[in-house]
Amino acid sequence: MTLTATKVERESGGKPSSSPLTGYTEFRHYTPKDLEEIPQLEKLDPELRFAMKVVSRVLPFKVNQYVLNELIDWDNIPADPIFQLTFPQKGMLKEAEFNAVADMLRNNAPKEELKKKVHDIRYTLNPHPAGQMQLNVPKVNGVPLPGVQHKYKETALFFPTSGQTCHAYCTFCFRWAQFVGISELKFASKEASQLVEYLRQHKEVSDILFTGGDPMVMKTRVFNRYLEPFLDSELDHVQTIRIGTKAVAYWPQRFVTDHDADEFLRLVEKLVKNGKHVAFMGHYNHWVELETPIAQEAIRRIRNTGAQIRTQSPLIRHINDDSEVWETMWRNQVRYGLIPYYMFVERDTGARNYFEVPLVEAWDIFRNAWKKVSGLGRTARGPSMSATPGKVEVQGVTEIRGEKVMVLRFIQGRNPDWVERPFFAKYDPKASWLDQLQPAFNEDKFFFEDELEKMQAKAMAKAG
Ligand SMILES: *Cc1c(COP(=O)(O)O)cnc(C)c1O
Ligand code: SF4
Repeated sequence: MTLTATKVERESGGKPSSSPLTGYTEFRHYTPKDLEEIPQLEKLDPELRFAMKVVSRVLPFKVNQYVLNELIDWDNIPADPIFQLTFPQKGMLKEAEFNAVADMLRNNAPKEELKKKVHDIRYTLNPHPAGQMQLNVPKVNGVPLPGVQHKYKETALFFPTSGQTCHAYCTFCFRWAQFVGISELKFASKEASQLVEYLRQHKEVSDILFTGGDPMVMKTRVFNRYLEPFLDSELDHVQTIRIGTKAVAYWPQRFVTDHDADEFLRLVEKLVKNGKHVAFMGHYNHWVELETPIAQEAIRRIRNTGAQIRTQSPLIRHINDDSEVWETMWRNQVRYGLIPYYMFVERDTGARNYFEVPLVEAWDIFRNAWKKVSGLGRTARGPSMSATPGKVEVQGVTEIRGEKVMVLRFIQGRNPDWVERPFFAKYDPKASWLDQLQPAFNEDKFFFEDELEKMQAKAMAKAG
């Protein structure tokens, strides 16, 4: 693939432009009803276009002009990784379900019938993975805070209400349900003040992680309302402010040319000057996303505030299931001053069959990338599953007294004492999630299971 940098220069060369970097004065996005309006799709095979229409009835779809013009290589369809990352693909639905929706569209079936079919299919796709709802929602003065998730002692997650969308949608996203409006699944918070009150009462929290969707879809004016309280000394114990974002890849303009970019970065700088560690958790799935001039300018401007950028991505079939992609991604991230952080295992939801990579293969890809980058790139951990008991990393495959086993460890545990204790599962080259693994050595349970069951029973009793 040719580097997109040259493509950008070529394409923006003759256009009138408000910015030497992009030529975009405003954000424009495309959703399923606008599929016909995407100029690049006109050249594609009509059957492929129809398939996209079918799948986008069921799964979320949203893309923007930057992703279309500068990240996707339209001479490499359908294999292009960013096309796979953002556009619906036929294989994401089971054949029978695909055909059912396709027939209904071809025959102009009544709206209500189609709606019901789509709804039924969505509910077969496990929209509620890993019991996040009941187990992790904390309370402040007896009132539940649905916008906060506090699973590990030091780190609280916060989902601001206005940050529950993204500049484009990833086809594999485990939050897909909220984007198609299965609304009871939304974590969303009403109030910055509730968050502050909660943190005031929880001195053990050293890290707050803003997440979404993507909190960077919020206007600076809105986001700053959530961030400003951290300048106050009553939140001194919160040392680190993390901002999980994909905007660095999908809309780097947010940090460069958007009208409120500077104002946002000034507040970040102020937080840093006040002694906070501000870390952007940049969601990059492929090295292509790092290489455009505007993506690099965004990185440069964020780092100029004194904030760090750490990077994370799941390992996904058709997008980055290749150790060379990770090797290049990690190497280039280190070159640009970013810190590789996590390789995740794709979760058990949505079009999982299309995207999943078995754990043993994931470990192999991880290892083959990791062994080729310098120590500064080996800050990446993984492959890691964010499962009910905690973040579980596949450390490798080995043989112990004649039994082939998989070695696992907790990076984070619902009980911190579970962390860093190696444990063993029967070798299973097909398993792609923790719940598919069996304990090795004929034991009937993993060491944490009894305690986890007790925790779950307690949480259920509390929730009533
Ligand atoms: C990953 C994660 C965190 C942060 O964990 P770190 O290891 O500190 O990055 C916090 N809460 C939840 C629920 C998580 O999944
Ligand atoms: S950016 Fe994150 S939350 Fe948004 S669609 Fe992609 S994976 Fe999902």
